[in-house]
Amino acid sequence: MRARVRAGARGKMRRVKVSNLCVYCGSNPGRLPEYADAARSLARAAVGRGIGLVYGGATVGIMGAVADAALAAGGRVVGVIPQSLVDKELAHRGLSELVVTKSMHERKSVMAERADAFVALPGGVGTLEEIFEMWTWAQLGFHDKPCAMLNVAGYYDDLLRFLDRTVADGFVRSGHREMLVVEETAEALLDRLESYRPTIVAKWVERDQT
Ligand code: AMP
Repeated sequence: MRARVRAGARGKMRRVKVSNLCVYCGSNPGRLPEYADAARSLARAAVGRGIGLVYGGATVGIMGAVADAALAAGGRVVGVIPQSLVDKELAHRGLSELVVTKSMHERKSVMAERADAFVALPGGVGTLEEIFEMWTWAQLGFHDKPCAMLNVAGYYDDLLRFLDRTVADGFVRSGHREMLVVEETAEALLDRLESYRPTIVAKWVERDQT
């Protein structure tokens, strides 16, 4: 089912300038070396375009890979980590800036405020929770920043199929589904983020059908 959008409820807004990119990614390296390789590629591509990174501030897993690659390329990297995870996720001490927050909620809101766009690399439930929170805020109109997934080696294929089901079954508007930018390479993803124009779509499927 393709949800109808009430006249006047949908419109294109200004383009978002991406100066800082928030990267959500696994605190584990994952099974395939392609995951960390793609994280490094994204980091280098962002630095090449003058884009700074905001991430979870850890040295572990894909998180550490993305930060180290950006720093090695001469980029600016801001880490944001709650005090409770400083030891567990091994806070990165070589960053441009490390923000230690009192709580996970504060971490996420600082990351959201400091970035102009959000991307999920391969990761686990923490990664999913973080990108989904930003996407849900976007569909509610709380911000107009792009949300994206870098679909490395088909990692997100099954999830993307499920997301199509949420539209087919009338829980998500196609306009909101289409908000999520999905690409397989770093350069293509950054091109899409830099040309993204937010779309306003009314949240509730039934209200404009009465
Ligand atoms: P993961 O993808 O589960 O390896 O986690 C990636 C990052 O997300 C790590 O920095 C975790 O601290 C963080 N994280 C884990 N659970 C949550 C959560 N419920 N909300 C926000 N961040 C989380």
